[in-house]
Amino acid sequence: MSPAADQYGVFGHPVGHSLSPFIHGMFARETGQEMSYRAYDVVSEEFVVRVREFFERDGRGLNITLPHKIAAVEVAHELTERAAHAAAVNTLALREEGILGDNTDGAGLVRDLCDNLGIVITNRQLLVLGAGGATRGILAPLLALEPAALVIANRTAERAEALAAAFTDLGATRGVGFTDVGDAPFDLIINATSASLTGDIPPIPPSALGPDTVCYDLAYGRSATGFVRWAEDAGCARAFQGLGMLVEQAAESFYLWRGVRPDTAHVLSLLRVRTGST
Ligand code: NAP
Repeated sequence: MSPAADQYGVFGHPVGHSLSPFIHGMFARETGQEMSYRAYDVVSEEFVVRVREFFERDGRGLNITLPHKIAAVEVAHELTERAAHAAAVNTLALREEGILGDNTDGAGLVRDLCDNLGIVITNRQLLVLGAGGATRGILAPLLALEPAALVIANRTAERAEALAAAFTDLGATRGVGFTDVGDAPFDLIINATSASLTGDIPPIPPSALGPDTVCYDLAYGRSATGFVRWAEDAGCARAFQGLGMLVEQAAESFYLWRGVRPDTAHVLSLLRVRTGST
């Protein structure tokens, strides 16, 4: 890589486990882009200063991951519509006017669900578990596909209610606690909680999942996540983890930065081999 290569990276804490340098390195190689991409471990107290320094030193773009997605809203000079609606930013890009903040998580999820996995959202009953930053990012793109209904369920019910209220202008949403999701099976259940990190399963009623229900965990790991195992044991139609979303949201960021759309299928297959993931 030439020393003059355009600088990109990911800011997070911790960030050592991040697959983004591998993904963007592959995208750059396969599209012939002259760029470097590094992971930076940045603590919350230093986040704003480090972002400013990065761009002052000719950095061109950053991915932002936990725990900085909300703080990144403030550091951007301008937000895309989807980032403003999510009130969370996972991508920063240098523009002539300043730093642009975007959120590519939702577009990445929808691309994986619809294009890669052939899942239909329109007119279907959706259940989204969790009301944190990831849920904020995925709600608008999911609602744009006009599901019949979208229920947000969260451990802290008030956060789900507040989030549903903030998105009602985009479609039919309802916010509830895990036990109040209703008795009928959903067509699609998306786990956007971080419960998989501790091996917990959100305690939704068994009736929420039927033989035609598709389940998708935003979390991913070497083996099936706890939620994917739980869904398969409960007899769902199909269950997936979020490696595809990770690659697709990265491709959206790459496109924003470089104006070139990389081939995600090849990188996803390499990543599955590299991580031993299913
Ligand atoms: P976050 O803002 O910290 O929100 C965490 C959410 O999980 C909250 O709704 C919280 O409920 C809930 N939660 C935490 N522990 C729980 C437990 N033991 N049982 C039930 N609910 C629990 O995190 P986030 O940024 O939204 O991320 C959520 C997940 O999505 C993470 O696993 C992250 O890695 C994944 N993610 C994946 C991708 C991808 O590309 N595949 C992209 C973004 C995020 P309370 O409100 O009650 O605390």
